[in-house]
Amino acid sequence: MQSERRAILHVDLDAFYVSAEMREHSELKGLLVVVGANPEGGKGRGVVVACSYEARKFGLKSGMPISIAYRLCPQAKYIRPDWGLYERVSEEVMSTLKGFADKFEQGSIDEAFLDVSSKASDEESAARFAREVKKAVKDRHGLTCSIGAAPNKSSAKIASDRNKPDGLTVVPFDDVAGFLAPLPIRVVPGIGKKTGDFLNEKGISTIEQLQKLDGKRLLTWFGKNGVWLWGVIHGEENVEVRQQEIPKSLSVERTFKEDVRDFREVRKEAADGVSELMRRVKSAGYSYRVAGIKIRFRGFETHTREKSLVSHTDSDGPLVEAVDKLLDEFESKGKPVRLVGVRVADIQRSTSGPSRLDDWMAA
Ligand SMILES: [Mg+2]
Repeated sequence: MQSERRAILHVDLDAFYVSAEMREHSELKGLLVVVGANPEGGKGRGVVVACSYEARKFGLKSGMPISIAYRLCPQAKYIRPDWGLYERVSEEVMSTLKGFADKFEQGSIDEAFLDVSSKASDEESAARFAREVKKAVKDRHGLTCSIGAAPNKSSAKIASDRNKPDGLTVVPFDDVAGFLAPLPIRVVPGIGKKTGDFLNEKGISTIEQLQKLDGKRLLTWFGKNGVWLWGVIHGEENVEVRQQEIPKSLSVERTFKEDVRDFREVRKEAADGVSELMRRVKSAGYSYRVAGIKIRFRGFETHTREKSLVSHTDSDGPLVEAVDKLLDEFESKGKPVRLVGVRVADIQRSTSGPSRLDDWMAA
């Protein structure tokens, strides 16, 4: 059965945080720019959030400790992230992109899927339309983006990353599998470090090698995620582009049956809350940048506190650490506690794939 042919664009803004900074502060143009923690002359803690393509030539990349970045490239201009600016610029660009799409799905602050099936049906028309989108982003917003055009989402996303910055990669609509075959397995959304290492140990490093495996093998290794992976590598993944509302924040609150005086019990309840919250965050494929707590004492005296992380994450560690620290202030009060809550905010979608193989493998 032949399903109706679709045309999908994956639009990814180039070095988005850095580009937004350069657009806002023209004096940064042409400089080596690193957005992230304060390097404090090489002694700083924290990480690189983003860096310009020029800085990448020195070996810098996002997620790298800022102290190492400073050692590699002390002459760069180091600036703290301005999240308000990035959100504002992102909203502007996304509203432009939305205007080009039959169906629109924002993947993260700087990425979106556009179903453009009514405007394009083959490589040529998709390329033409993608160029219009690129021109609009450049003319209206002064930013460049890279676009992948394909008959499905996963290959469009893989394609947008093939030719950055300011690139356009069109996947042959009738031969998605052939386009994917020579690429390394790690370009597949969802194949992270753990899954990649696992497959490398089996002697598999290209998508072509994966394609040659019996589907049953993928099923054995990855459970139902193997079905999804099979669809992706054979170009048959067929997930709809759909508008998904991402919540502003997510929280878990626990009210004690009786007010609690032992603060260890409060911390334990908060830790349980963190586990539950992170299960929700991960199963939805979100990442967060703000961690918070809420504590209510007897008599309804309620306090909230929050801590901003330097970048988005989908791991438990930063939330565990922040919650523990934020609770410290209230431990010494020695008052009976009625309720404790934990919260994450500034939520983004951290993966575009419906499955997260690495998490599955870790479980
Ligand atoms: Mg980007």
